[in-house]
Amino acid sequence: MIDQKLAAMGRSGNIIREIAEYGAEQAKIVGAENVYNFTIGSPSIDPPTCIFEKMDELRASMSPAQLHTYAPAAGFPEVREKAAAYLRRCFGVPYRAQDVIITCGTSTCLAVLTRVLLSGGGRAMTFTPYFMDYKYYAESVGSTLTECPTDPYTFQLDLDAAEKALTSDTMLIVMNSPNNPSGVVLRREGLEALAKLLERKQKEYGHPIYIVADEPYRDLVYDGQEVVFLPSIYKNTIYCYSFSKSVSLPGERVGFMALPPELDDYDDISSAVMAAIRAFGYICVSSMWQRVAIDCLGATSDISIYKGNRDLLYGALTEMGYTCVHPDGAFYLFMKTPEPDAEAFCRRAMKDNLLVVPGDSFGTPGYVRLAYCVSRDVIERALPVFRKLAEEYGIAK
Ligand code: PLP
Repeated sequence: MIDQKLAAMGRSGNIIREIAEYGAEQAKIVGAENVYNFTIGSPSIDPPTCIFEKMDELRASMSPAQLHTYAPAAGFPEVREKAAAYLRRCFGVPYRAQDVIITCGTSTCLAVLTRVLLSGGGRAMTFTPYFMDYKYYAESVGSTLTECPTDPYTFQLDLDAAEKALTSDTMLIVMNSPNNPSGVVLRREGLEALAKLLERKQKEYGHPIYIVADEPYRDLVYDGQEVVFLPSIYKNTIYCYSFSKSVSLPGERVGFMALPPELDDYDDISSAVMAAIRAFGYICVSSMWQRVAIDCLGATSDISIYKGNRDLLYGALTEMGYTCVHPDGAFYLFMKTPEPDAEAFCRRAMKDNLLVVPGDSFGTPGYVRLAYCVSRDVIERALPVFRKLAEEYGIAK
C-alpha cells in the first residue's frame, strides 16, 4: 500500500519554493533586477579561501580514484576525529571519534533523529518561530510537533510556556539558535533555566528528554553574541552542525551529528542512528567534501557582508515604521506585518515584485521572513517598495 499520509504531505507543497518560483517567472517578464527576492536562505557569498586551498591540496596529494572513492558509512575515521577534537577543544565536552557521524547537512540529522527517537511513540516539541521542516520530520514518522510559544517581543524562551507545553510523552525538543526565521540568538539565562526544567521533568516522567540542537547558523553571529553550546549545559543533547551556511557549501551536503558519551541510552541511540542512516540511504557523504569541509571547521565566509545587509535592512525598516526583533545571527529578519494576515501582506508585496515568506509557515502568524543573504543592491532597490507599502498601510513614520 502506498503511504497516503506521505503522498498528502508531498502534495501540500512548500510555500517558500512556490513564491520563489513565482519570482523566477516574474524575472523573465520584468527583468531579474526588478524582482526583490528575499525568500530563500541560500548563501550568496563565496566560501572562505581555506575551502579552495584544501581542495587544491587534496587534488595534488591524491589520485582521482582515491579522492572520489566511497567514504565509510558514517564518515572517514580521521574526519570524525577532527570534528570530535574541535568540539573538545572549543567546548570541553569529551567527544570521541566514534561519537561523530558525518551527515548530509543537519537535514539528515533531523530526519534520522526524529525517526530514532519518535518511532517508538512520543512527541517532539519546538519553540516558535521555528524552521517549518521540523513539523514535516515529526509527522513523516507518525508523530506530532508541539509548538511552544516564546516571549512575543523578543522570541527568547518563556519557561512557564515551556513547562505547560511539556507532557509525559515529550521525547525530544528541537532547538535552533541562531534562529531561522527570526535571527534571534537564545540567551544563556533562558537556556540554563530550560536545562534545569528538563532535568526535573525527566525525573518526573521517568524517561530521558533529548534536545536536538540544530545549529547550521552557529558561526553566523554578529557583534560577538554568545551562542551557548547546549551539550555543555544539558547532557542529553545531540549536537547537529552543517557546513551549508557558515562556509557557503549548501550544495555539497556536509554536516555532522555528535552524541555525547554520557548520553542516556547511548548504545541504543548510536546503533539506531547507524541503522537509520543506512535504511534511509544517507550513508557515505561525499569523500572529497567531508575532507575539505572538516579542515575548515570554525571558519566562515566573509560574514561582514551579511552584517552590512542586516544593518541596512533593519535600520531602514524600523525607521520606516515597521516592527522587527533585532536579529543577532543567521541571515534572516522577521518583520511584523502591518495587517494580521501575513499571507495577504505577501500577496500585496508580490504585486510590486517584493517576495517574502509568511510567518504562518514558521508557526508564527502576523510576521514575514526576509532572507537577507542577497546582494546589497537588491536591498537598496527594494527599500522604496517597503516604503510604499508602509505608506499604503498607514504605518509610515
Ligand atoms: N535547520 C535549519 C534551521 C535550516 O534553516 C536549514 C536550512 O535552511 C536546515 C536545518 C537544513 O540545512 P542543511 O541540511 O543544508 O544543513
